[in-house]
Amino acid sequence: MNRIELTLGGNRIEDYTVVVKKPTEATVYAASELVKYLLKATGKALPVVYGEEERGAKRLIVLAHGQAFKDGFRLRFEGERLCLTGNNERSAIYAVYEFLERIGWRFFAQKASYVGVDHGPHTWECEKLLSEGKVDIPSDFSVEQEAVFDYRDGASFALNDEAFCVKLRINAQTWGSRDLARAQYGGARTFAGKGCEGHTFGKLVPIGKYGKTNPEFFAELDGVRKTEGVDWDNAPQLCMTNYASVPVALATMKEWMAQTPRAEYISVSQNDNRSFCQCASCRASYARYGYFGTLIRYVNEVAVGFAKAYPNVKIHTYAYAGTDDINDSVKAHKNVMVQWCPTRACRNHALNDRDCALNRATYGKLQTLSKVANEIFVYDYRHCLRYAMLNLTDLFTLRETMRTYAELHVKGIYSEVNIHALNQCTFEELRAYLFAKLVWDPYMSEAEYDRHINEFLEGYYGKGWRRIREYLDRWNSIDPKMHYTSFYGAMISDEGKYIRDEQGNARFAEFMPKEEVAPFCAWANGKFDEAAREADYGQKLRIEIARTNVVWYELFHRMEEVMRGDDEAAKAETTKRCRDLCSRMRRFMMKYTVYIGMTNTTYMYDDFSLPVSQWRYANDIAGGDPL
Ligand SMILES: [Zn+2]
Ligand SMILES: [Zn+2]
Repeated sequence: MNRIELTLGGNRIEDYTVVVKKPTEATVYAASELVKYLLKATGKALPVVYGEEERGAKRLIVLAHGQAFKDGFRLRFEGERLCLTGNNERSAIYAVYEFLERIGWRFFAQKASYVGVDHGPHTWECEKLLSEGKVDIPSDFSVEQEAVFDYRDGASFALNDEAFCVKLRINAQTWGSRDLARAQYGGARTFAGKGCEGHTFGKLVPIGKYGKTNPEFFAELDGVRKTEGVDWDNAPQLCMTNYASVPVALATMKEWMAQTPRAEYISVSQNDNRSFCQCASCRASYARYGYFGTLIRYVNEVAVGFAKAYPNVKIHTYAYAGTDDINDSVKAHKNVMVQWCPTRACRNHALNDRDCALNRATYGKLQTLSKVANEIFVYDYRHCLRYAMLNLTDLFTLRETMRTYAELHVKGIYSEVNIHALNQCTFEELRAYLFAKLVWDPYMSEAEYDRHINEFLEGYYGKGWRRIREYLDRWNSIDPKMHYTSFYGAMISDEGKYIRDEQGNARFAEFMPKEEVAPFCAWANGKFDEAAREADYGQKLRIEIARTNVVWYELFHRMEEVMRGDDEAAKAETTKRCRDLCSRMRRFMMKYTVYIGMTNTTYMYDDFSLPVSQWRYANDIAGGDPL
């Protein structure tokens, strides 16, 4: 562990006193973090005073905050005082971490990667002091930053720890997977209600309560109004042209606001299915406004009623499966925020890449959306739902994509990575770190982005980190022309259509020609071996976790052919490798597919000769897909 000799404008750090101007749970926490990390770095423990400034003491580090909506902060000297000032309580904590980063601290990874399991060997806290020797913060030092995106959240096992999320300036509490909203962390951006961040039609107008009395509130399918269904994902959609259900929705929304009065968003959005109403009135509306416009007209009705009582709460809705026919036929009410869920983005290319048909379409939809809605969020799927162990190739396109989101006036990003996974072999710690840096500042230079990657790799994988970087460089530039959907890893043509085999089945995860798979994987394994030679025990484990994606990839593409052949030695060797993959999955608590992985599926552990490509992955939705 490095130690530094720290001076502020030439003055020794031990001569300073920390002052918390307006003590709140958050600013007291900020001060304790400042003192803790200064002690670790310098060996000096600073006194802290609350409220009144210490009389007589000149050398102060003053923590202060305002009450603004937007996160941001200022760090600067006023005479011999160093003032760390947050726009709000949350960003007063960010100001402290920014200062700590300026003296050399880096917060790479959290302590525990999963809720309820604290003995896992897989991810440990990884925080490093990169500086050494004498460090001075000069008296003309001045930093001012403001968040580009107001809502910054990522669902990832690598972002489960609240204290770590605050270090990375993740500021929102989506789907209740952790408790970031507590006062200690300066609160978080939240949705009204409990678990009501989306798919809320069924909760706003429960079919259990109204199905029998008001069947006209609900979707007509095959000529019959639905009157039954659970009040959640599987409920039929609301009849979106019947505004008689709006008062019912409004009454539920008022209850939610009473339960969670600090909420800044409330969701009025479709259930997670495609059971949209086919009554004559809805069909006429779809013809004129599309599904999207029909939804916006309904949500606008709700917004008119809701905005009177809650003018500062944004009404969230989705443009998602079925309602993603985004068009400009209807302008959204000024308080309506639309969250676009692009399930067909290509991660091999940046969002603004004009040569990628999938991303051209996504870009166009966002552009249209930015004309009809005052506020846009993105529900960003940054993992392969079908193959959880598939390492996406977005390392060098992510910065450009995030910048493009910002340029298209996106105000919030919820990035979803391998939900329900305890651990993954797809560099999620690195990806979470980079996402957090970009969602704060998507306009960073390529050189800065590169620096973040390298600092992380060295901190996390140890002295042999350059070998890991070589692997990432090559994997992320395998074939600059290929396209695939991030959701299912389905291969896409230049025209934006599924690439199919002779039987008409969609092809998946074919990132390189078959004959290149074995040499590539041998090369990659060599790089992991070299990196492991210079690693300590913990770093070695991290390297083995990362290597698992190569083990999976090779078996996925080669095992079936070997097992169909008659080379018994090759079959035995491949079966052994499959056993190694399975033991890695158990040891490192990995899932091989997001959806199937939600249930207890261990059949592959009973027969290691079952080809990896024949495992049960997430449902094949590609067949009937309109692409
Ligand atoms: Zn209808
Ligand atoms: Zn593409």
